[in-house]
Amino acid sequence: MRCVVANWKMNLTSDEAKAFCEDLLGRFAPGAGTEAGIAPPFTLLHQVSGLVRSKGIQVFGQNGHAEPKGAFTGEVSMPQLRDAGCSGVILGHSERRQLFGETDAALAKKVKAAWQWDLLPLLCIGETLEQRDAGQTLEALGQQLSILAETGPGPLWVAYEPVWAIGTGRRAEAAQVREAHAFIRTELQRHLAGTEYQVPILYGGSVTPENFPELLGIPEVAGGLVGGASLDSRKFAELVRQAG
Ligand code: PGA
Repeated sequence: MRCVVANWKMNLTSDEAKAFCEDLLGRFAPGAGTEAGIAPPFTLLHQVSGLVRSKGIQVFGQNGHAEPKGAFTGEVSMPQLRDAGCSGVILGHSERRQLFGETDAALAKKVKAAWQWDLLPLLCIGETLEQRDAGQTLEALGQQLSILAETGPGPLWVAYEPVWAIGTGRRAEAAQVREAHAFIRTELQRHLAGTEYQVPILYGGSVTPENFPELLGIPEVAGGLVGGASLDSRKFAELVRQAG
């Protein structure tokens, strides 16, 4: 299975989202084994899911709270994401970890809450530049995946996103991607041994139609989580086509 997910972050208005979806659907030609997804901001979830879910495109929240409801001003719960048409939720994006203080302990709770509400977690992990320079990349990835010891097994997609490659135009080298994805696979096999879950590992960080074919040729790269390039419907349609 190949997966391509658009992470719109804090971009687009409803008019822009409508134009994006209409243009995308005109070009949308996924291969048989390709899953496409869009993660719009909360305000656009209902609209985007209404436009694309019937075409087989999944809709993801960009975050979700672990509690189902309550006094959490500014937060959105997993059942609310489902209600807005989501089938999955991005969890642990490095911007959430770095700018909003999201911890592994909080993420373990969020993963469990997503499962409880039948949402597919797309768990993002990745090392900072400091960790890479200090030779601590695999240790950082192992630490971020260790929440699976607490959550137990369940359906999951993982995105490897080196923090220094996000939004920088500086994609990780093929050898770096190969090493990280092979390590993540080994860790997932350890955590999910004896279960039926097949976890695709996506790469994220400055993915474009120019570099995606090479990335897809790297062992254990099952697709991409795409920020900047995913705001252009033609580029996103092309990435989906390349994955197929
Ligand atoms: P980018 O973002 O493609 O703009 O680097 C990727 C991401 O943050 O998921």
